[in-house]
Amino acid sequence: MRVEIPIGAALIPAIGVAGLLFCVSPAKAQGTAHCGNGVELRLSAPVAAQGGLLLLEVRSKVSLADVEAHWGEKKLAFWQAEGTKAPAKVETNEAPKAQNTTGGEDARRALVGVDLEHPAGRYALKLTAKPENGADVSCNAAVTVRAGHFAVERLQVEPKFVQPSPEDLARAEKERLRLREIFATVTPVKLWEGSFRLPLDGARQASNFGRRRVLNGQPGSPHGGADFPAPTGTPVYAAQGGRIVVADALYFSGNTVVIDHGLGVYTFYGHLSSVKVKEGDVVKRGDLIGEVGATGRVTGPHLHWGLTVEGARVNPVQILSLLRRYRYSFSRPSVRPRSPRKRGVQSRFKSSGAPSLAE
Ligand SMILES: [Zn+2]
Repeated sequence: MRVEIPIGAALIPAIGVAGLLFCVSPAKAQGTAHCGNGVELRLSAPVAAQGGLLLLEVRSKVSLADVEAHWGEKKLAFWQAEGTKAPAKVETNEAPKAQNTTGGEDARRALVGVDLEHPAGRYALKLTAKPENGADVSCNAAVTVRAGHFAVERLQVEPKFVQPSPEDLARAEKERLRLREIFATVTPVKLWEGSFRLPLDGARQASNFGRRRVLNGQPGSPHGGADFPAPTGTPVYAAQGGRIVVADALYFSGNTVVIDHGLGVYTFYGHLSSVKVKEGDVVKRGDLIGEVGATGRVTGPHLHWGLTVEGARVNPVQILSLLRRYRYSFSRPSVRPRSPRKRGVQSRFKSSGAPSLAE
């Protein structure tokens, strides 16, 4: 009984040959692989928990004519890093920045979303790059996915919350398919610029990402977003720029807004009391999009904030620091990322204590 932020196709592990594929270099532990011809692949961390988010950077001393990387079945969507060379062919709407922070190198970036239910294990992230006037290069980097430590919550509620009517089930299924199709669509243009922000002013707590809930003995799907308890009417702001692709009343998540930020990145805002945008609107970071409410399958007001990256449900809180930290330079990442739960932020709003059935 929850709002399901659908996943795309399952990610396929590089079974068996993983050990042979990884670039063996002293820098591997830092999430860096040397691909030859002066091309380097860097990861913000070589380890991610389920529901985690990584930043990939490909750097080259010469301009790259093409870059392609795959994470399982997903083809990653790159953008040009700020202040680096802009080649003739690049999928971005951003103008080259005047500030040059990478010494004139060509650097491309992509977000790697590790779905909340991605099996733990060791995987290969595969890269091919085509330097201008040079031979193609390819290499792989190892990404270890470790199990998330998610809370399990057992609740007894009225049966109607666990057994929707056939009509409600049909409606919810139709909406699930609609959302799945939206999240599987990769708009080939980057519509955000800079770092993401929290959608609520003063919001500081969201620790329930990934929580497993058992309602009346029936295990539900894991919680695919972060809940921010807040009074009804609290303004909700766009976490970044993008295009409104959903501004609608849905069965589970009530009044819902979804923003397409481009490159397969979407943010989701659920249970709103009012919606201030309509589908097709273009919003900027910080624009008012609605107000906190308790619509849909909930019993208390809060904002459900979700983030999907190429169909992977990830902890939205992580994108805040990830893009801020690596805005200008790709410094050495920490080898041991903290778990998504520990990355939760605190809230000045007190929880209503009421269970949110749809989340
Ligand atoms: Zn929720």
